[in-house]
Amino acid sequence: MVAGLDEKLEPIYQDVLRRNPGETEFHQAVREVLETLGPVLVKYPEFAEQKMIQRICEPERQIIFRVPWQDDRGQIQINRAFRVEFNSALGPYKGGMRFHPSVYLGIIKFLGFEQIFKNALTGLPIGGGKGGSDFDPKGKSDCEIMRFCQSLMTELYRHIGDHTDVPAGDIGVGEREVGYLFGQYKRITNRYESGVLTGKGLSWGGSRARREATGFGTIYFLEEMLKIRGDSLVGKTCVVSGSGNVAIYAIEKAKALGARVIACSDSNGVVVDRDGIDLGLLKQIKEVERRRLTAYVQEKTSATYLENGCIWSIPCQVALPCATQNELTAKDAKTLIEQGCIAVAEGANMPTTPEGIRVFQDAGIAFGPGKAANAGGVATSALEMQQNASRDSWTFDYTEQRLKTIMVAIHRRCHETSEEFGAPGNYVVGANIAGFLKVGHAMSA
Ligand code: GLU
Repeated sequence: MVAGLDEKLEPIYQDVLRRNPGETEFHQAVREVLETLGPVLVKYPEFAEQKMIQRICEPERQIIFRVPWQDDRGQIQINRAFRVEFNSALGPYKGGMRFHPSVYLGIIKFLGFEQIFKNALTGLPIGGGKGGSDFDPKGKSDCEIMRFCQSLMTELYRHIGDHTDVPAGDIGVGEREVGYLFGQYKRITNRYESGVLTGKGLSWGGSRARREATGFGTIYFLEEMLKIRGDSLVGKTCVVSGSGNVAIYAIEKAKALGARVIACSDSNGVVVDRDGIDLGLLKQIKEVERRRLTAYVQEKTSATYLENGCIWSIPCQVALPCATQNELTAKDAKTLIEQGCIAVAEGANMPTTPEGIRVFQDAGIAFGPGKAANAGGVATSALEMQQNASRDSWTFDYTEQRLKTIMVAIHRRCHETSEEFGAPGNYVVGANIAGFLKVGHAMSA
C-alpha cells in the first residue's frame, strides 16, 4: 500500500479488512478515504468517541438476491443481484445499478461507499447506495435484457421507493434498462411513482440533461481546476478512456470548450483519430447501433485502431478516465506525465489506482477524483427527483445551468476544504473531508 495510516485509523481499517474478507475494491475505497481523515479526528474528537468512521464503513443494509430469467433459446439462466443501502443520513439511498460480469459484493460496496461522499458533495438531499448484477449484457438480445430487468425488479421493487432508495444507471444500465425496470415496478405496484428511479426517458418522467450530466459535469470540474491554475481547456489535447455514456458527453463538452479530443476506447482497444474524435459517428455507433469501436475505424480513414492498446500511451495534456475502476496505474500515470499531461479528471468511479494517484500528486498534476469530478450524474438525478416530486419538467438550459452551478460549488468546496486541512489543491483530501463532514454531522445530529 502507498501510505501509512494514522494510529487511530489503522485499527479501523484492519477491522474493515477482517469484516469484509476478499472485497479488495471496497478495501481500496475505504483506505483512500481513511488516509485523509487523520486531521478530521484532531479537529472533531467527538467523531472518534461516536465511532463515526466505523459506522460509515458499515452499510445500513445489504440485499443479495437471485435473478432467474429465460434466454432466447428457452434456457433458464441464473444471476445474482445486489443492492447495498449504505447511508441514509442525508436522504434516500441514491446510486446506480451496474450490470457487468465482474460484479460481486465487493464492487457494489466500493461503489456504494464512494456514493455516500459524492452525493454529500452535491449539496442535495441524497444518501448513498449502489446495486447491480453479474449479468453480462454483451451479446444479449433486447428481449433477453427486458426479461432480465423484469425479473430483477420482481424482487427489487419491495426494497426501493422515492423516499427509500432510488436506483439509476451505471455501467451496462442506461435508459433502455431503466425503462424495463420502471415498467415492471409500475406494473407490480400499480403506482406511477416517477421518483423511484432516475435516468428515465424524457417522455416518462426523465430529466433533460441527465444523459449528458456525468460527462458534462466532469468537464466543468476540470475547467475549474484549470481556471484556478490560470489555465483553460482551449487548445488542449485530451484523451478519454471508454466510449459509453460518460465518455461520449465528456468528449462533447471538452470539444465545445475548445479542447481537441483525439482518442477514446472500449474493452477491446483504442481509437486514435488525428482529426479529432467524430462525435456524430461515435454516437451513431454506440448509442444507436450499439456496436464496438472497431466500426469507427471502418468509417474514418483519419483513425487508427490499437487492438488491446493502452489509451494512456497516447500523448496528451489532459487525461479523462471514463471507463472503469483501476484502469489507470502508476506506470500509466508516469507515462502520461512524461508525455506532457497536466490535468486528470475522473469521469469513472475510482479509475486511478492508489499508486497512480500518488504519482499524479507528487508531480503536482491537477487531479480531480471521481467522487467530486463525476458527481454531475447523480446531482442531475437529484434534479430529476425534484422535477418528479413537483410534477414539473425543466428546460435543457435551466437544468444544465443548475448542473454547472453544482459542479462549480463542488470544486470550491473541495478546494476550500483542502486548504483548511493543510493540503491546498489536493482534491482527494478536499472531497473526502468535505463529504465526510457533511455526513458525519448529520449522523451525529
Ligand atoms: N452511476 C452514477 C454514479 O456513479 C449515477 C448514479 C445516480 O444517478 O443515481 O454516480
